[in-house]
Amino acid sequence: MSRPPGTAASHRPWTAFVLHAATPEASWCAVCKAWTCLTVGLLLLTPDGISTVGTRTWCEICDDTDHPLPPRRIDRG
Ligand SMILES: [Zn+2]
Repeated sequence: MSRPPGTAASHRPWTAFVLHAATPEASWCAVCKAWTCLTVGLLLLTPDGISTVGTRTWCEICDDTDHPLPPRRIDRG
């Protein structure tokens, strides 16, 4: 039982795709009321050229899961 010749995957041509983030742009976050919202375009680099595949938006404060904001409260002591 041997594999027929010509079926090896090593001769398959392959194409390199590179996902690249464009320069982020800061904007206003309506949740935490600060200039901390970032929008970045996602660029896909292929042998045929560059195409935009989408954008990603997040807030430095709201989306920081490592250091979430403490719950806001008013001290009425
Ligand atoms: Zn925010």
